[in-house]
Amino acid sequence: MTNTQLLPSGSTIGILGGGQLGRMLATAAAQLGMKTHIFCPDPQSPAFDVTPLKTVAAYDDRAALKAFADAVDVITYEFENVPVETAAFLEGLKPLAPGTRALAVSQDRLVEKRFLTDNAIPVAPYRAVDTLDALVEALGEIGERAVLKTTRLGYDGKGQRMIRAKADAATAFADLEGQQLVLEAFVPFEREISVIVARNARSETRAFDPAENIHENHILKTSTVPANISAETAKAAGDMAARIADALDYVGILGVEFFVVPGDDGPTLLVNEIAPRVHNSGHWTQAVCLTDQFEQHIRAICNWPLGDTTRLADVVMENLIGDEIHAIGEMLVPGTQPHIYGKAEARPGRKMGHINRVNTAIGTK
Ligand code: AMP
Repeated sequence: MTNTQLLPSGSTIGILGGGQLGRMLATAAAQLGMKTHIFCPDPQSPAFDVTPLKTVAAYDDRAALKAFADAVDVITYEFENVPVETAAFLEGLKPLAPGTRALAVSQDRLVEKRFLTDNAIPVAPYRAVDTLDALVEALGEIGERAVLKTTRLGYDGKGQRMIRAKADAATAFADLEGQQLVLEAFVPFEREISVIVARNARSETRAFDPAENIHENHILKTSTVPANISAETAKAAGDMAARIADALDYVGILGVEFFVVPGDDGPTLLVNEIAPRVHNSGHWTQAVCLTDQFEQHIRAICNWPLGDTTRLADVVMENLIGDEIHAIGEMLVPGTQPHIYGKAEARPGRKMGHINRVNTAIGTK
């Protein structure tokens, strides 16, 4: 089902997933007078703190899913590994945005790369790999410096092995064997950027400025805006993100990650991956845009007019990972905006919150 009517305030938005993204979506929905109903198997979910309605059940619990669908007006999700069968079942009962197709495409790196290539969006050279012989052959074709990745359930660098020469092939393959794999050529990028784009059911798209992203231990550490790229590269990235959203007939916020690759005629862009949801590299919008990515997502899925994405100041978003959260008191200098996710335990590598550092110089002019 697709929703084309403006959903009035007071409606209930169902959200699959109860992490920090669900929590911030629920807060944005409340600001627009919407209620949220969060469905998540984990009773300790951070989003449960901020929603009036919740269901704690497994994603394959059809009775719980049916009751959830009956209780809401539109359904969305905050993570891309919602089982496609769950999404398809719900989509038969209530409007689901983004739809099942966006999930199916983004859950599998190979399907995603084929989809992007079919739509003339550039990606790094790649090969599907299911045996060691196929891996060695693929290294001969796309080059010996490459990255071997599982096609599914890879995030924050999990399920990846860097290959520097054919001699590394057997170990890398043994580490990941048993799963469908894809080999990607190593991209000698000069920087990584991302674009957060919104699209609604009237096919309108609106992108935020690209962010420049730095990862530490494969986890996003900072997003800096503006990115250190030309206006032409920024426009090209925004246009590509909108084309991807159009090709998926997408409704909601889509995150698109790019490699910026240096070249003799100026830098070129390759898409690394897409995420059919609000995105960590879009959290900066909370501090410096009239409409942030969370409100924009709620607007898009409820058929409200898309909001203004103008950036009002320069900003750096920094993730607070594990123990870093304990130093929050020292970080709150003027110009900072904290977002704390309310997770009980600060485990290593766990995203506990983020802080937006805004260049407030304009206020003193
Ligand atoms: P991914 O999980 O695919 O987003 O990869 C995580 C990170 O690994 C990326 O943000 C890059 O920093 C690095 N990476 C992934 N694929 C490649 C590649 N083909 N070439 C160079 N670096 C890569």
